[in-house]
Amino acid sequence: MSRTRVLLVDDDPSSLALLAHSLRYGDYEILQAPDGQRAWELWQQEQIRLIITDWLMPELSGPELVRRIREANRPEYTYIIMITVVDEKPMMIRGLRSGLDDYLTKPFDPDELLVRVSIGERILQLEERLQHSTQQMQFLAMHDPLTGLFNRRAIQEQIEAELARAAREGYPVGLVLMDVDHFKSINDHHGHVSGDRALVHVARVLSQSVRPYDRVGRWGGEEFLVVLPGTDRGEVTRIAERIRGAVAASRCVLSVEESIPLQVSIGALSVAFAPDSTPPALDGLVRRVDGALYEAKHAGRNRVCIAD
Ligand code: GH3
Ligand code: MG
Ligand code: MG
Repeated sequence: MSRTRVLLVDDDPSSLALLAHSLRYGDYEILQAPDGQRAWELWQQEQIRLIITDWLMPELSGPELVRRIREANRPEYTYIIMITVVDEKPMMIRGLRSGLDDYLTKPFDPDELLVRVSIGERILQLEERLQHSTQQMQFLAMHDPLTGLFNRRAIQEQIEAELARAAREGYPVGLVLMDVDHFKSINDHHGHVSGDRALVHVARVLSQSVRPYDRVGRWGGEEFLVVLPGTDRGEVTRIAERIRGAVAASRCVLSVEESIPLQVSIGALSVAFAPDSTPPALDGLVRRVDGALYEAKHAGRNRVCIAD
């Protein structure tokens, strides 16, 4: 974690100065606000992870500031410590219940303040680590570990979302199903590791042949599915042909001495939608595009077939 950004909030300038002074030797980036309102504005503009705030302030009180921050429900947590002269336990308990993390009473002991702040930092670090591993898990749940493309379930979801949007707004959607030709013989002649490398290569060429807003997924072993929003039959044909040509023109490098050519067969289709229409079921579309792919294989491979 980089230097923690700490926001100090107090309407009394001398209290504010004392807070800043107490934290001077810590590795903090200190920001200051003379009232709750200014603190609220600063918190919205800046990435502030930790706040030390006074309770009683004109305009916007400490508890109100806490309430607003908690309600904003930002993905990254803000740790809030309240400092007040009101040495009243019930009030503090109410404060803690409403989203406060910790409190100190005035006059505070600077050493205790530092300790409390470092506890806050520890919580923030834990929270950061948790968020990081959650993101990693989400990524793993959605992606194919070999190629890094969307896995079958994720691309399925992406296509369904895209079909729903296209049916609502009335634009066409293209689907491309691609299968590597004679892939089994690559495994047989060069081994499974080289086969994996060939799949990674094909996935890369495919990703580079489509537009940034197209979605590419690994549908099965050596099959890939692409959804192309806004493409009519002519465009889908052109893009599928471009993908096929790009793979055929490339060579997959297996080692310093060895590189192999690869070819793919492609089935494709485009679905047109009138605005506010009902999207079709995905499995019916997949069956049609799979039929077109079968035709491409049957017609001699290394070619594109468009479903009617
Ligand atoms: P066709 O031109 O008809 O598509 O022939 P093909 O050999 O490509 O098709 P087939 O379905 O007979 O073989 C696909 C092979 O892909 C069989 C399977 O062992 C292999 N395969 C599937 N997934 C992986 C993988 O993740 N890594 C490797 N190395 N091979 C895989
Ligand atoms: Mg194949
Ligand atoms: Mg296959």
